[in-house]
Amino acid sequence: MTTIAFIGLGNMGGPMAANLVGAGYTVNVYDLVPDVVATLAQRGARAASSPQDAVRGADVAITMLPAGKHVSGLYLGEDGTGGLLQALDDHCLVLDCSTIDGETVQRLASACTERGLDMLDAPVSGGVAAAQKGTLTFMCGGTEEAYRRAESILCAMGKNIFLAGGHGAGQVTKMCNNMLLAIQMIGTSEALQMGANSGLDPKVLSEIMLKSSGRNWALELYNPFPGVMDSPASRNYTPGFMVDLMSKDLGLATANARATGSKIPLGEQAEALYRKKQQQGDGRKDFSSILELLSD
Ligand code: NAD
Repeated sequence: MTTIAFIGLGNMGGPMAANLVGAGYTVNVYDLVPDVVATLAQRGARAASSPQDAVRGADVAITMLPAGKHVSGLYLGEDGTGGLLQALDDHCLVLDCSTIDGETVQRLASACTERGLDMLDAPVSGGVAAAQKGTLTFMCGGTEEAYRRAESILCAMGKNIFLAGGHGAGQVTKMCNNMLLAIQMIGTSEALQMGANSGLDPKVLSEIMLKSSGRNWALELYNPFPGVMDSPASRNYTPGFMVDLMSKDLGLATANARATGSKIPLGEQAEALYRKKQQQGDGRKDFSSILELLSD
């Protein structure tokens, strides 16, 4: 029987851990917030009293934390030494599903290699609804062998599982995807708002563009104009996927572009627009609320 330690039971981690329990795994759960640990325990997980307690005897350690500093603080320790990695069993597979920066992934991967542990970066796409339904997309970076070990566990939480390349490739894939998503969302918002300003019904305009060459994911499944479909826009931009998280992801993308000499003028513009939305105090709104910048 595989035992999994799951650390970070927030909007995403909570339902992901619940799906692992539902699939029959023994799941030791830990979070800084005791209430979310208790909720998972009611659903059949084992409540751990500390990260060290969670990983005791675990075959796999999964983390779903806000950002790179939380991941490195946990595994490597605040000063870069003596974190949770030291407490893992020798055969334990490390699966970090958080969205984090490339530098932290490389530091964690090197520390795992030194310690003789397999590790995958395995960020996700799909949001809270997909986490609940177990239909996430996982974008993995690491060795083929680690990927094979992780596959059945990831399948209990997701529908589409990919190995993108070596360590860090999962995070780069996630950055590329979310930069494209942000650009699509802004472009879709511009088209819909200009249509509305010109007297068109955004619902009719959306229907026509969906059968034309402007068709895209944001228009089809996540329309940013209120009242067009059952999307966050029609619920006062309740997330969904927050402006704060999209800004974080665009920050990771622009940092990666600088590091790799990539030219991303639209990605930079997208980051500037999302940062502006944050500065307006809208960080916790859904990211489709970027349309409000155009309609104000
Ligand atoms: P969240 O803030 O809801 O949850 C994070 C959890 O981690 C919290 O419960 C917090 O208490 C816990 N935590 C923080 N530091 C900890 C520590 N040292 N030990 C134990 N627990 C700790 O965030 P979320 O929305 O679940 O997102 C998690 C990750 O998934 C982020 O990296 C995010 O970018 C990514 N992501 C989120 C979405 C989304 O739609 N929310 C979609 C895809 C990817």
